[in-house]
Parts: sequence; structure tokens; C-alpha cells
Amino acid sequence: MYYSKEELEKIRKRGENYWQDKMSEEKEKARGYKFQSKNGIQVICVHFKHDHFNRENVLLNTRGLTFLGLDWLNSAATTLICTRCGYIHWFAKEVQQI
Ligand SMILES: [Zn+2]
Repeated sequence: MYYSKEELEKIRKRGENYWQDKMSEEKEKARGYKFQSKNGIQVICVHFKHDHFNRENVLLNTRGLTFLGLDWLNSAATTLICTRCGYIHWFAKEVQQI
């Protein structure tokens, strides 16, 4: 199969765009995102007053929670990890990215 010069240029450009997107995605991830809790209050790091986090979903040990009478927490929680100091904030309810 032969590619014309224009086609090769297009392919090269596509690859370049892919890596640029990928890199800005990585950068964004390193910087983190802003979040708010369900009642609309923005999440600020309790330790450092930073406002960018990475979100992770964590499974909780339901058996232990039932024992403690906390089974309303269900089986999943959300953690927001401060991208500046690493402090982990736990949420039993959903948080929204803003
Ligand atoms: Zn922090």
C-alpha cells in the first residue's frame, strides 16, 4: 500500500495530536480537578486549602460497617486526594467534578 505525501502528513499529524492530547490529559491529571459535594459546597483540602484533587472510588468493608451500624454507607465511597499534599478526603456520598 502506498501513501501520498498528503496522506503521510495527515497520519503524522494525527499521531502528533494523539500524543498532545495524551500529554495534556496527563498534565491535567497531575494538576487534579475541582469538586463539589452534593450540597454544592466546593471541596477544599482541610490540610492545605488546596482545591484540586484526583478522584478514586473505594470499596468499603461492608461487614465491618454493618457491625458498626454504618451500613447506610453502602459498599462504595469516594476519595478525593489533594494533588498538592496528598491528604485523602473521604465521601460516603457522591461528589461532582466542577
Ligand atoms: Zn492538600
